[in-house]
Parts: sequence; structure tokens; C-alpha cells
Amino acid sequence: MFTSLKKIIIILALILLLPIFVYTFYELNNLSENEKHLENIYSEQLNTIIFSVNQNVDDVLQSWSAKISDIYQSQDSSFTNIEMQKFCKSNSSISLIVISDTSKRNIKFYSSSLFSASVNAVNRIKNILNENSENIKSLIEYKNLGYNKIQPLKNNLDETPLLSFLIQDDKFLEIAILVIDMNFFVKDILQKRINSISNNDFIVSVFHNQDLVSYSGGKEISFDNLIENKNLWTFTNYTIGISTSGKTIHNIVKERSRNNLISLAVLNIVIILGIIFLFINIRKEIKLSQLKSDFVSNVSHEIRTPLSLIGMFAETLELNRVESEEQKNEYYKIIRKEAERLTRIVNSILNFSKMESKNKKYSFESENLNSILDEVLFTYQHELNSKKNECKINKFESLPELQLDKESIMEAIINLIDNALKYCDKNCSIEIATGIDEKFAYLEVSDNGIGISKENQKKIFEKFYRVTSGNVHNTKGSGLGLSLVKNTMLAHNGNVTVESKLGKGSKFKLLFPIDKI
Ligand code: ADP
Repeated sequence: MFTSLKKIIIILALILLLPIFVYTFYELNNLSENEKHLENIYSEQLNTIIFSVNQNVDDVLQSWSAKISDIYQSQDSSFTNIEMQKFCKSNSSISLIVISDTSKRNIKFYSSSLFSASVNAVNRIKNILNENSENIKSLIEYKNLGYNKIQPLKNNLDETPLLSFLIQDDKFLEIAILVIDMNFFVKDILQKRINSISNNDFIVSVFHNQDLVSYSGGKEISFDNLIENKNLWTFTNYTIGISTSGKTIHNIVKERSRNNLISLAVLNIVIILGIIFLFINIRKEIKLSQLKSDFVSNVSHEIRTPLSLIGMFAETLELNRVESEEQKNEYYKIIRKEAERLTRIVNSILNFSKMESKNKKYSFESENLNSILDEVLFTYQHELNSKKNECKINKFESLPELQLDKESIMEAIINLIDNALKYCDKNCSIEIATGIDEKFAYLEVSDNGIGISKENQKKIFEKFYRVTSGNVHNTKGSGLGLSLVKNTMLAHNGNVTVESKLGKGSKFKLLFPIDKI
């Protein structure tokens, strides 16, 4: 039975564990490759984030150029002036809009307030347009291809960014120049964008020539600690950088791989523990069902013997086959004894079933353990003092009164005495004693019987358990007695202990706590 169970469990374990072990082995083998792969994915992800910032800047500039073209193409010049002013007011990043024809003769200036251009300003724009003639040419080429490009212009005087795009309709082609205030651009456009895309894991920052100008996530990061960085497409001396709360990609990937491996190890352990738990439980259930079937055959055997003895002696008496009065008395005694044995068996089965269903009720009363022992000894005196047996009683006279359920304690003592007589080879020497041990009052039953091995001492208090080695097989029993004794003692807040040596004898001790009952 158990070997086939072992086989089933091994197969089950193999089915469950093999794929996981193979997967774990595969993961361990490919660890460095996986890490490299993950690193690449991670850095691509970060580049995509930077790309999205650039894309956003481009979108904003495109929308500006579209709006400015729209306003400029209106026929009414005073309307154009007012609308341009309004537009500059609502976009603080644009400090000046300059629109010039290609011949640079007609140059107009627009800003958030009325702007009267000095000769100096006009000349400066002319210089800028001359210095950027190549840039303007390429803008025209793009325009001819149908793409309205926005391009930064060279500015040899200062660092103010200048952007240029073309405005064209059927009649004219004009060059628009935007003078950008980068402080406002970073604050109004870039900061909003980086705030919306950063999260707990990484920090997005903006640098101007490697100096930090803006960042998200409440933590300043130096340019050297960036994981990835890219220049803005249009404002090339501005850089967008990403860092991850102090960790490198390599560290993050390593941490992820380590966490994965730990999860796998935990999974393996959980499955192994689950299989062990399953095995223990199935084994326990099989053992219990085996014990139960042994119990049925043991009890039937136990009941059949006294019944046939009673039947046989009653019939002999009925047929008047017994001549001497002495023999008759002997037969009556046997019938009474066997009837008592039957009652005991039935009682213990009934008590056991009550205990199992938790229906057993105890009525605790103030009792003297010595008096209960006396009552039991009175019933058992015949067996205990037979030619074959010798019994010593050692009572501690000043035992305190204890709160006991008399009936069940009597049954427990009877069980111990019954076992001492049953599991005894030849001449039985039994000693029954009461006494006080620190916090306990006790009653012990010692015998010089066959004894119980260390291993079995742990099991004999389990229900249905009977020792199945040596000549114990031949002794009648149900395997319920000691389990009932244990339950009774626990109900009294006490315990039952055993000391035993194979071949030498056993000592069972009922312990009653003095202060608790
Ligand atoms: P039963 O006696 O009906 O088999 P018990 O629960 O009373 O059931 O005892 C369980 C087992 O403990 C017995 O089968 C026997 O093997 C062992 N045992 C109990 N008392 C003694 C004893 N005094 N000496 C040796 N073995 C004992």
C-alpha cells in the first residue's frame, strides 16, 4: 500500500517539479544573455521617452508656425497686429516675432506689446538673414517639397535661440523668425511635459550645456549620473536626460533577474513542501483507514469470545450438567465476568464515539482519588490477587480533594489495570500508587510486562493504534483504551505519561493538576 503511494507521489512530484526545474536551469543558464537583452529593452524604452519629449517640442513649434501663418495671411494689417500681440501674450516663450520678405526690404516686428523697431534692430535682422542664407535656402527647398520646416538660425551675437520658418501664399513668400525666451520655454513647455512622463522609477531632467535647468521627481541629478541623454532636436545646446533614482540599468536588470530567480526558488520550495504535505496526509489517511479496519476485526473478535463463553456456560447450567455447587458458582462468576467485559467494550466504543463527536459530557465533583481507586480495586480484586498475579497498592493518604468526573476516571484506571494484566508475559507483578509530585496529584500503574519500544510509546495514545510486533498480536483489544485515557485526562486539564522498557515493563501515570481543578 505504502510503496504504491510512494510511487504515485514520486510520479506526481516528477510531473510537477520537472518542468519547473528545467525552466529554472534554463533561466540560470541564460542569465547573462537575458540580462543583456533586458538592458537593451530598457535603454530603448528610455530613448523612446526622450524621443517623446523632442516630438512634443516639435508639435508645439509646428502649432505656433501654423497659427502665426494664419494670422499673418489675414488681409487686414491692424487685425494682424492685434492678433500677433495677443498670440505673443499667451505664449510667453516667444519674445519677438519678425517677418521679412525675401529681399529684406520689408521687415515687420510683433511682440506682446507695441514694438517700434530701431534701425539697429532692423540691421541686426538683416545680418542674421544674410548669415543664414544657406539655412533659408534649405527651408525653401523643404517648402517646395511640401514640408513646412522649422529650423534654428545661427546667432553670432548671443545665445538667444532663433527659429525660422516660411510663410507662403500665392502672392508672396515671407521668412518668419521667432526669438525664443528659453527660461519661459523650459518652464511652460518642457517642464510640463517631463512632469507628465516621469514616475517613481526614473527622473527626467533638462540641461543647458550640461548645467541642470529643470527636473522632475523632486531629485536633482548631475549630468554624469544620467543613464541616457539626447539633445533637443531644435535647441541643440539643451539636453534631455534620464536617470533612475540612483540605480544604473545594469543594477535594475540584475535586481529584476535576482527577484525572478528568488520567485522561482520560492515556487520550487512551495511545490516540494506541498508534495511532502500531500504525502504525509495521504499516508496518515491510509494508516487511519487501515487502523479502522483492524479495529473492526479486533472488536468483533473481542465481542465474539465473551459471547460464546457466556452462551456455553449458560447452556451447561441450563441443562443441569454441573453437579457441584462450587462448580456452578465458578460458572456464574465466569458468566458475570464475561458480561462485564462485554459491557466494558461496548462502553469504551460508546465513549469513544461521544468523544469523537465532541458530545462527551463530564460532571466534575469533589472526589478523593484514593476512594475511586478503592472502588476499582474492589471490582478487580479477583484478577489482581489470583495465583498468577501479584499486586501491590501504595496509597498516599493525604491526597487533596480533586474535581473529577468519577465515572471516566474509573474507566481510565480500569483501562490501565486491564492493559497491565493483558500485556504481561508470565507472572504479573503490578504496582498501583497514588501520590503528589510538585504541582500534580498522580495515580500510577506499573507492571513487569512486555514493555513498549521508544518509537511505539509516542503512538499508543493515538486512536485505534495497537503495537503489531512480538506476541502483542495475540492479545485482544480495540486500540481505543489509551486514546480514551488521554482524552479523559486532557478534559481534566491533566495528562497521561508512559515510561517503559521493552521486556522490562511499563509505568503509566495519570497526572491531575492540583491548582487547576
Ligand atoms: P488495546 O489494549 O485495546 O489494544 P490500548 O489503547 O489500551 O488498546 O493500548 C494500545 C497499545 O498500547 C496496545 O495495543 C499495546 O500494544 C500497548 N500497551 C498498552 N498498555 C501496555 C502495557 N501495560 N504494556 C505493554 N504494552 C501496552
